[in-house]
Amino acid sequence: MPSYTPPLRDMRFVLHEVLDVVGALKRLPAHAEVDAETIDAVLEEGGKFASEVLAPLNAIGDAEGCVLDKATHEVKTATGFKEAYAKYVEGGWPALSCDPAFGGQGLPHVVNQCLFEMLNSANQAWTMYPGLSHGAYECLHAYGTDEQKRLYLAKLTSGHWTGTMCLTEPQCGTDLGLLRTKAEPQADGSYRLTGNKIFISAGEHDMAENIVHLVLARLPDAPTGSKGISLFVVPKWNVKADGSLGERNGIWCGGLEHKMGIHGNATAQIVLENAEGTLVGEPNKGLAAMFVMMNAARLGVGMQGLGIAEVARQSAVAYAQDRIQGRSLTGPKNPNGPADPIIVHPDVRRMLLTQKSFTEAARALALWVGMLIDEAHRHPDKDKREAADDLIQMLTPIIKAYFTDMGSECANLAVQTYGGHGFIRENGVEQLVRDARITQLYEGTNGIQALDLVGRKLPMKGGAAAQRLLGLMAGFVAQHKADDKLKEFVEPLEKALGRVQDAALFLMQNAMKNPDEAGAAATDLLRLMALTAMAYMWARIAIAAHKGLAAGNDNAFYEAKLATARFFTARVLPQTTSLNHQIKAGAATLMALPAEAF
Ligand SMILES: Cc1cc2nc3c(=O)[nH]c(=O)nc-3n(C[C@H](O)[C@H](O)[C@H](O)COP(=O)(O)OP(=O)(O)OC[C@H]3O[C@@H](n4cnc5c(N)ncnc54)[C@H](O)[C@@H]3O)c2cc1C
Repeated sequence: MPSYTPPLRDMRFVLHEVLDVVGALKRLPAHAEVDAETIDAVLEEGGKFASEVLAPLNAIGDAEGCVLDKATHEVKTATGFKEAYAKYVEGGWPALSCDPAFGGQGLPHVVNQCLFEMLNSANQAWTMYPGLSHGAYECLHAYGTDEQKRLYLAKLTSGHWTGTMCLTEPQCGTDLGLLRTKAEPQADGSYRLTGNKIFISAGEHDMAENIVHLVLARLPDAPTGSKGISLFVVPKWNVKADGSLGERNGIWCGGLEHKMGIHGNATAQIVLENAEGTLVGEPNKGLAAMFVMMNAARLGVGMQGLGIAEVARQSAVAYAQDRIQGRSLTGPKNPNGPADPIIVHPDVRRMLLTQKSFTEAARALALWVGMLIDEAHRHPDKDKREAADDLIQMLTPIIKAYFTDMGSECANLAVQTYGGHGFIRENGVEQLVRDARITQLYEGTNGIQALDLVGRKLPMKGGAAAQRLLGLMAGFVAQHKADDKLKEFVEPLEKALGRVQDAALFLMQNAMKNPDEAGAAATDLLRLMALTAMAYMWARIAIAAHKGLAAGNDNAFYEAKLATARFFTARVLPQTTSLNHQIKAGAATLMALPAEAF
């Protein structure tokens, strides 16, 4: 089975040495008292929970899956899942970064981001139950009425109730405008919902007392398409005015999907039969409210990609140190043994360094965005809040799509490192491939993330948000260009930035005339921007590594950072050149073939 050690040293390095989060938090009155010791202690405990409680359940969840009792519509989760969730609630983990007004601990979001990386590494399927609850909490916190907040937020904060997001229907996936679930207004101001949802993660289970479904539906006179969608909160058990549980509501699990991976998470078909619900936000503006949950979920799914990549990397490294096959091309490295460990082979090192150069910079990028979320919520200066929000908006599709593509790639590289043994179930890495695959699909496929980046985020505010991100990196280049120690990272970053600008210019000149140009460029442009953002993080990591070396302790750790940064710069970042060429090749070759000729 893959072994998992929480990457606490690396998290501390990113938080304290690269990002100086404690310094940044001092500028946010709500978090000004948070110190490094508190953060480190929380992460250490969180790491223990992930590695000791959740990781041992990962293979069990995969083997047992979830079981639906068709008579009662209740779902039983795999052995140990319920007990682990009880421990999670008892430990106060759901409340970590929630609002103290509803019983939360009020810790910064960036700490929660670290926790979720570890939970995802240990057990992605289990982590989806509390992960979706947190999204529901954020949506109701932002858009709920006072009454909805009073009834739901404390229970979601404590984790006694969990949440779901119910968007998808059989005929409506990416295109939410096709949605059919109906909501009929009632005399008392509530609504009755009828319809069928599919693919609802954590849609039914035995881990919590109640499930709070956030459901998209149409009001009777709603305009067609996505402008006629409203959002409702529909609890599994109705909630009485005093907050206690009432009657069973008309929202059922009609079936569970049999699927490629994440067997431990219940993917439910949800039937709404005259289910009682209340409106969240304004009528017909449900998508705006749901986007709070979707954006949280997109970053959350990105963290699944990172979590999987990290555990895959750890497993591959352990195996490559241990497995003995062949001799090093430059002569035996294990002369007393019958062969050398496979980590001596350049091709195995290519795989391990691809994983390492992704996970370490991705962690830095994710935690930087975590910090930006804290700034966007808590900075006293409105301009600073807006600046942080622009960067989050730009980076959300990048993190969702690039991290999950790489999560899958890293899981596959772990299988490849194991050779044929990777394909054998009992070694556990094949589960990572199956589990990782969904992350590229749900929460908007990665193709849709790319369209979001090109179609919505780049033109946002007349291009100002994009300029904020690119300008920030250009400013960094200008500041550090003359530093001899950093040249090897900063110059390639500058060139990559030039390629992003070149590709963006091509789109500006061509996509207005032919919108297919934007669609054709989207995935490549997202990857080009992602690699550039990673180069930016590697340059920031290099600065911290040089500082660490100058301080003179833990030299091996800092040298490894610089060596990995060099690998990324020399062997991964050059992909930006071909991506730029691909983008500028335009849409013509994609669109030439008539559909019937495929
Ligand atoms: C295990 C699992 C869990 C899920 N959990 C949830 C959940 O909790 N809640 C929920 O509401 N949904 C959930 N989903 C649904 C998921 O979000 C959708 O499957 C996903 O959004 C894609 O929709 P679709 O499957 O209908 O694919 P389609 O929309 O039919 O897309 C098929 C292909 O066409 C592409 N495509 C579609 N439209 C365009 C376009 N305009 N431009 C370019 N390409 C396009 C897509 O990228 C994709 O490659 C889950 C799905 C699974 C499998």
